[in-house]
Amino acid sequence: MTFTNRTALVTGAGRGIGKAIAETLAAQGCTVICVSKSAESCGAVAAAITAAGGKAVARAVDVSDGPAVAAAAEALLKEFGKIEILVNNAGITRDGLLARMSEADWDAVIQTNLSSCFHWTKAIGWPMCRGRWGRIINISSVSGVIGNAGQANYAAAKAGMIGFTKSIAKEFARRNVTANVVAPGFIKTDMTAELSAEVQAGATALIPMQRFGEAAEIAHAVAFLASEEAAYITGQVFSVDGGMAM
Ligand code: NAP
Repeated sequence: MTFTNRTALVTGAGRGIGKAIAETLAAQGCTVICVSKSAESCGAVAAAITAAGGKAVARAVDVSDGPAVAAAAEALLKEFGKIEILVNNAGITRDGLLARMSEADWDAVIQTNLSSCFHWTKAIGWPMCRGRWGRIINISSVSGVIGNAGQANYAAAKAGMIGFTKSIAKEFARRNVTANVVAPGFIKTDMTAELSAEVQAGATALIPMQRFGEAAEIAHAVAFLASEEAAYITGQVFSVDGGMAM
């Protein structure tokens, strides 16, 4: 894969899938802006990348806070000149059957998982278009593709990311800016560690490959979509899920 000194911003880079994406892009020579909610987690990832000889900085930004994202993006664009790769990965779950789901749980998941894509893409997407080169990769979920009982809020946000991505792919295509979705299945991170052993066993039974994926397996797909070689791919949804959603 070819990367020519690109600058990438990865949200939710403090742990799990986002950390793997940040490390993989840094290993390909990108300068990586690691964003997470707490300064501690993204700071540790950026420090580890730097210690390994890569280029990374950390910024604590609540991605659900529109004005905070706009201010952070403006400052980062001034500091770096351009941000050419945007990976909207930060996400949360607030699972529960609809009858018991509170409006607060609905709002938190929509704002963190879906509205965050709007905030970051609005702030960084147009400068990318002006530079005539860009890659936007949004991390959705198998739940957004096939739905999941107990995840109406999460599946709605993740399906929303797909419609959002296809729309901006059409808006930005003429400017050589692509936008694609990666839809992971069950991946071994803190998010799935919260699931009971019974739920994990039930999920594994639904995966043709009969195992949870590794965060690095998502990161490789993201890195390809961010590379020069993926120039003619836009508006697509890539399931990386051991065959779960086929
Ligand atoms: P994770 O281990 O729980 O890590 C989530 C990351 O998102 C953390 O770095 C966290 O920041 C950050 N984050 C959460 N809320 C934020 C906010 N308001 N502002 C800024 N950052 C915030 O999650 P993961 O499993 O790696 O999942 C990453 C993405 O993949 C999510 O969008 C998730 O929905 C999606 N996904 C995961 C799976 C899976 O099986 N794991 C499957 C399908 C899709 P802190 O480090 O500061 O807490």
